[in-house]
Amino acid sequence: MRTLILGGGPAGAAAAITLARAGAAPILVERAAQPVEKVCGEFLGADAASLLAGLGLDLPGLGAVPIRRAWFGAGRHRGDFALPFPAWSLPRMTLDAALLRRAAAEGAELRCGAAAVAAEPAREGWRLRLADGAVLEGGRLVLATGKHEMRGLARAAPPGALGLKLALEGVELGDAIALLAFRGGYAGLQPRAGGGANLCLALAPGTPGLAQAARDPAALLAMVRQGSALAATLLRHARPGWVRPLAVGGVPYGFIHGAAGPAGLFRVGDQAAVVPSLCGDGIAMALASGQRAGMAIAQGGTEAAHHAAWARAVRPGMRLAGVADGLMARAPSALVLAVAGLPGLAGWAARQTRMGLA
Ligand SMILES: Cc1cc2nc3c(=O)[nH]c(=O)nc-3n(C[C@H](O)[C@H](O)[C@H](O)COP(=O)(O)OP(=O)(O)OC[C@H]3O[C@@H](n4cnc5c(N)ncnc54)[C@H](O)[C@@H]3O)c2cc1C
Repeated sequence: MRTLILGGGPAGAAAAITLARAGAAPILVERAAQPVEKVCGEFLGADAASLLAGLGLDLPGLGAVPIRRAWFGAGRHRGDFALPFPAWSLPRMTLDAALLRRAAAEGAELRCGAAAVAAEPAREGWRLRLADGAVLEGGRLVLATGKHEMRGLARAAPPGALGLKLALEGVELGDAIALLAFRGGYAGLQPRAGGGANLCLALAPGTPGLAQAARDPAALLAMVRQGSALAATLLRHARPGWVRPLAVGGVPYGFIHGAAGPAGLFRVGDQAAVVPSLCGDGIAMALASGQRAGMAIAQGGTEAAHHAAWARAVRPGMRLAGVADGLMARAPSALVLAVAGLPGLAGWAARQTRMGLA
């Protein structure tokens, strides 16, 4: 029986491309008719770039902006280092669309604009019920719904942070990204292909000013500007490109799915593990987990073996990413002073926190 894939983000698309290349044309169900903006900084590091090349995508050809430097700001301190690996920025709408086009070209069947309302075990595998009343049956189900839970199949994850994204005009970053500390967290500022920048952050429940920042771009900008001299400089002419920030709730940083689960259900992407966003590895993890699940299914592997292998592969990198994220959130000035004083060490640390998934 054909494999069903639920969700057409990087994880679902990578699984679809891999299965289609193995001759097992899957059916992919994605609720958005066209790719949409997602809460994501859109940073692609070396792992993501190499995985995307393997899946047949050409980042410069898609208009990705090269990223060569990272700036850090906390209070009056500022640090700057050269990234020790090639990195890019590409809008998720462009990336997700290109991945789905690739999946279709490889032979996957796409059902875009179709939301699944239920996913349930069937006599010989899995059944998806779609909002328009259609029912699909398949041997295995790849669950790639990202931060969205399917009823009855929700992740056993702790309560999470609120992720926010705001497109900005009037911000010039050149080939740099910036990490900007403020009271209660830090934000990433990243050049947007086509001009301007993305401001992206994840706030723990209880962060002062959270509710207002989530609905008011001016309040969000003020919160970040107050955190550092670097933010005040970079954002001095910033104009919000949207009437309100895009938000996603319950982002469970540090979550890793255990091996147990219903037979034939393969979790990938954010459904399998959620890495803190400081290191910008979420898309690489989504691509790698989708690809590995596709290979496991094509070779007749079990979901339990796949989940256990995935947990082993990502646990060390996620621990390091958690340490880096905790330092930036709780001791930003110390971290920024270290970056300023020892840029070589910062580059080394940036290399160590790569997940090595490609
Ligand atoms: C604040 C923040 C900043 C981040 N910045 C970065 C960054 O700079 N770089 C990076 O690499 N990662 C970053 N990430 C992480 C990254 O965005 C995610 O890890 C990645 O998008 C996960 O991909 P995915 O395919 O699992 O899920 P998604 O990209 O969320 O895709 C899931 C898809 O499933 C579909 N779907 C859901 N439910 C249904 C349903 N019922 N029926 C049909 N379709 C459905 C959705 O429409 C969606 O298209 C960031 C995350 C946050 C919160």
